[in-house]
Amino acid sequence: MVEVTLGKTGITVNKNGFGALPVQRIPKEDAVYLIKKAYEGGITFFDTARNYTDSEEKLGAALEGIRDKVFVATKTAAKTGEKFREDLEISLKNLRTDHVDLYQFHNPSFCPKPGDGTGLYEAMLEAKEQGRVRHIGITNHRLSVAMEAIDSGLYETLQFPFCYLATDKDLELVKRCREAGMGFIAMKALSGGLINNSRAAYAYLAQFDNVLPIWGVQRERELDEFLSYVGNPPEMTDEIRAVIDKDREELLGEFCRGCGYCMPCPVGIEINNCARMSLMIRRAPSAAWLTPDAQEKMKKIEQCLHCNQCKGKCPYNLDTPALLEKNLKDYQEILDGKEY
Ligand code: SF4
Ligand code: SF4
Repeated sequence: MVEVTLGKTGITVNKNGFGALPVQRIPKEDAVYLIKKAYEGGITFFDTARNYTDSEEKLGAALEGIRDKVFVATKTAAKTGEKFREDLEISLKNLRTDHVDLYQFHNPSFCPKPGDGTGLYEAMLEAKEQGRVRHIGITNHRLSVAMEAIDSGLYETLQFPFCYLATDKDLELVKRCREAGMGFIAMKALSGGLINNSRAAYAYLAQFDNVLPIWGVQRERELDEFLSYVGNPPEMTDEIRAVIDKDREELLGEFCRGCGYCMPCPVGIEINNCARMSLMIRRAPSAAWLTPDAQEKMKKIEQCLHCNQCKGKCPYNLDTPALLEKNLKDYQEILDGKEY
């Protein structure tokens, strides 16, 4: 069994963490079943967020009786100290606990610091002094904010997208976290569904001993796949390297990760799916992306106002409206019979 220690927090867990975002989409009893099964299979790190609707509640119900045997991480997207306190109160209640092991600022557009006028970091410190928060973390999709968080010395962990499509800058973040004694929690290790080989995803991350991937789990078969890696962690082989090289060739560059940070769109375009439709159709079972409902969503791209709001918010600096148009053109050609 491979373990990871999250920097100076001392939190040491199996190198498979549970990402509780997708359990929002399934009934409570199914979610509780999955979470309990994950624990029984050796997973002891669970990551949720105040913004994931009822995910915290489901996690709280599932962890009843085993709370002291696991680590619970959650997040707040609060913009003021007051809202922070409110969020923490609700999270503790939902999670049925008196403390969270790791409390993270949820993708803020800046790096919260003492004296910045928001009162956020002060509220975090106060919660830590009260013992309601054991460790302080930050999650982000922007390299600049992540770098600033590392340099600030104020954070014990960073949660950032990291997978085998990583750029040199992402690798630099992992290295800098290690040097700073910070834990690195990898989100989107399957790149929001674009990576369909979880063995390869795991084997890549296994090369970084300070990185803890949290897998977003919604179905039992997905969980079973990751639980099999607890006892049998995949290692890098020539075969896996070939899969990674092929995917990197196909996916590197201008592609939408599906994070949704550019939304909402004023005309209701579902950007996080539509801007990567060409890839999803080719890399995932295509039927789900060709239904009348999906076609209607793609057609909405024709109503784009070119207001560029989405472009301004994309952390990957994508030209989102142009990407949408490109995907729509390809999609229409596929509907007209183009081979894909
Ligand atoms: S540019 Fe188009 S897709 Fe982007 S936010 Fe504006 S209307 Fe929506
Ligand atoms: S366009 Fe950018 S912000 Fe929008 S979903 Fe894709 S990667 Fe995320």
